Amino acid sequence: MPSNSEDITGVLYETDVQTVGGGLSRDLGRLKATDGTKMELVWLNIVLFVILHISSLYGLWLLFTASTWTTFLLFIPAVAVTTLGISAGAHRLWAHRTFKANTPLKLILLFLNTFAFQDAVYYWARDHRVHHKYTETDADPYNSNRGWFFAHMGWLCCRKHPAVVEKGKQIDLSDLEADPLVMFQKKYYLLLMPVICFFLPTVVPMFLWGESFNVSWHVMALLRWCISLHFVWLVNSSAHMHGMRPYDKNICPVNLSFLIFFRFGEGYHNYHHVFPWDYKSAELGKYSQDVTTKFIEFMAYLGWAYDLKSVSLDLVKQRAQRTGDGSHPVWGWGDKDQLKEDVGVTTRSHQRSG
Ligand SMILES: [Zn+2]
Ligand SMILES: [Zn+2]
Repeated sequence: MPSNSEDITGVLYETDVQTVGGGLSRDLGRLKATDGTKMELVWLNIVLFVILHISSLYGLWLLFTASTWTTFLLFIPAVAVTTLGISAGAHRLWAHRTFKANTPLKLILLFLNTFAFQDAVYYWARDHRVHHKYTETDADPYNSNRGWFFAHMGWLCCRKHPAVVEKGKQIDLSDLEADPLVMFQKKYYLLLMPVICFFLPTVVPMFLWGESFNVSWHVMALLRWCISLHFVWLVNSSAHMHGMRPYDKNICPVNLSFLIFFRFGEGYHNYHHVFPWDYKSAELGKYSQDVTTKFIEFMAYLGWAYDLKSVSLDLVKQRAQRTGDGSHPVWGWGDKDQLKEDVGVTTRSHQRSG
């Protein structure tokens, strides 16, 4: 069962800003403005991304014109489990430690994470911890102050800003280094990734249901990977720009209805940057109905996931009222119950909606 604890693991971040005696806030101030450093392009990545996107468009055409029914029906679930390898695995389990997992669940999530090919969990989590700690500064690997495209995928097309490298080296990764499964994936990534992300999704449909090589490769390997990449990238780009900020109006991350609609998780990005240790990456009730949260809850039901961390309603409410932009459906300034200044009514109304 979720443990409603607000204590954090030493990984996270908001309290760091308040308690490090100004060290981190000084750093943030120094890093805040993009310093005009010209990024050195990595042409190999650019060429590979161009090839990937042209091949994926061809895959999309094949999906509707040449694929077998089995491939057609399994395509969306395949994208969903791919995305799960990032959202439940690299993000909520390893980067933020929002819950604990037994060995079988860790193996499943490491397999799905390799299926998603966004680098080994160890490096993904390091970059993501830097992203949370130095959001919207030059040390943020996907700094959205450099524009939508940079935050989306441009950061993968150029060498890292020196501040990203410097701060990345200072991030505590001892918990990941103590996890033999994470270190196994890191050590053998260049062998595991091509087999799991590209070879398996090509040959399995060919042998199990007679799909052609052309469709298997372009649809189940490339298009599946490409779409899952964009789902995750949208969290770094659009979810740092255009949407509501019900929990903290002073930070860039937003709650983005477009991503919330697809229900793969991580659409409540304003909430997530305020309360990154919550396994739901979203508030309670109807605000947390995404595939990733349901997956973690199902694993908790099986006993494979445990010590799920969450945030008390009271803390969420206080924060929304103190720093939110007023767009929270219950605790925003525009809420008709709250205009009556009747806290009891507000609380009841939230319970109804949950
Ligand atoms: Zn973010
Ligand atoms: Zn995060």
